[in-house]
Amino acid sequence: MRTLRPISAILLIVLAFSITQVNGQVSHTPLFDGASAFSFLTGQCDFGPRPPGSENLTLCRQYIVETLESFNWTVSLQNFTYKETECANIIATWSGAVNSPIVLGAHYDTRPNATSDHPSNQSIPILGANDGGSGTAVLMELARILPTTDRSKVELVFFDAEDSGQIDGWEWIRGSVHYVSELTSQRITTIEAMVLVDIVGDADLYLPKEGSSTDSLQNVIWSIAANLGYSSTFVDSPGGSVYDDHKPFLDVGIPAVDIIQVPFPSYWHTLEDTPDKCSAESLEIVGEVLEVFVVGYDTENGTFLPDTPYVLYGTLVVIVLVIIIVLYQLKKKR
Ligand SMILES: [Zn+2]
Repeated sequence: MRTLRPISAILLIVLAFSITQVNGQVSHTPLFDGASAFSFLTGQCDFGPRPPGSENLTLCRQYIVETLESFNWTVSLQNFTYKETECANIIATWSGAVNSPIVLGAHYDTRPNATSDHPSNQSIPILGANDGGSGTAVLMELARILPTTDRSKVELVFFDAEDSGQIDGWEWIRGSVHYVSELTSQRITTIEAMVLVDIVGDADLYLPKEGSSTDSLQNVIWSIAANLGYSSTFVDSPGGSVYDDHKPFLDVGIPAVDIIQVPFPSYWHTLEDTPDKCSAESLEIVGEVLEVFVVGYDTENGTFLPDTPYVLYGTLVVIVLVIIIVLYQLKKKR
């Protein structure tokens, strides 16, 4: 085997560099701990069912606020009244940061009635371990483990009054509708991404691409999942559209993605939505993907990694370099 000419060697080095740029992503090792997240899921369920306006939800709200504050986040309540029920979104920012480019959301209320259960159970409130508890648990664990240098990129929002739709004349997603109605037009332009996690705790987690989400942002998140080896959970296939807390954001032009298991698990909106259906592993998969997503956000350039044009550019560079090397070698052989 003869040695490479300097020009070939240089080209190969550039080629190798280009490939690492293509796969470059984020060299961050996730810190998200599924077991810790699971303890936040059971911590909520310990209060029992948590429908809007209930004493249980008030106590759970306190628990979430105190937990976030123990991780040094600045927490505020956004109070609102709906159908004479006192509700509150919980908002956490880092050191009171304003205009954080990423909003991460989950609802922390649970459905007041088990409307998909046997008729004799339908007036009983659900525990909502997965529907409500899981997304909230993921955000709480992120609040604990996100590197402090990345925290001001994020605003964490826990929505109230998401899951009472079609009961006593209630509509769905009242918390997120209220939250978005309070955004100034200036603030709307500074939110680069809204990512919602809902029903992400099932032990047999299956996350296709929710149908109404913003494609480009969704592709970024799913490619991060693939790079972490989670493509059997974050499935690259279309899922149904869900009327969920990301919708009000989409309506005002904010790129938004709903990470949600669709079709819903069989125990959805039944008394069977309990912690034993969920797993720490599933929470960890979702949490790690969100963690890498946040850490990978480039505040200076406002870009997410891996960015599609960036990958395309890297691929083009590789193709051109391969052609140059081949032509050069052919020319030498003449
Ligand atoms: Zn629900």
